[in-house]
Amino acid sequence: MTPAERLRARIREVPDFPRPGILFKDITPLLQDAAALQTAVDLLAEPFEGRAVDTVVGIESRGFILGAPLALALGAGFQPARKAGKLPRETLRESFELEYGNEQLEMHRDALEPGQRVLLCDDLIATGGTAAATSRLVQRIGAEIVGAGFLVELEFLDGRRALPEIEVHSVIRY
Ligand code: AMP
Repeated sequence: MTPAERLRARIREVPDFPRPGILFKDITPLLQDAAALQTAVDLLAEPFEGRAVDTVVGIESRGFILGAPLALALGAGFQPARKAGKLPRETLRESFELEYGNEQLEMHRDALEPGQRVLLCDDLIATGGTAAATSRLVQRIGAEIVGAGFLVELEFLDGRRALPEIEVHSVIRY
């Protein structure tokens, strides 16, 4: 088994959650396994090593769990892209359609310095709408996007098409 296959074996599939027809990829068994968690962070970091990433932007909420250790692995800082109403200071907001509903994400207007090199991170890319909204926030702030890293990619939903200008890497593909 390759390292990525070992990780895949730690992802539990839950049918019809949170809605009928959605096959939810539950990463909590992987997070519980110290070796798997370390491998996941290593494989997320690998394509972006030596790429001068200043800040990892993790997407609420499983993008926080992976994004913070990814930032440490790359010697970068971390900023959250949060659901609407959670951040205390002046924010920018983007709306988008999720695989299961409508959603809004916010970042602090001063979360990043203009020109900073940013890596987007989430646990999973499905249609790509969440990551595309986050990329719009980062670009509105004036930072530069180095790429986007996902633990899981649902290839059949072609989320990369929503991120045409962005270098996308994923560890486990379905
Ligand atoms: P999307 O915007 O369609 O790419 O959806 C990605 C976001 O929704 C990520 O934050 C995921 O955590 C979550 N998500 C979408 N589909 C699934 C799924 N089948 N299993 C687990 N999480 C999902």
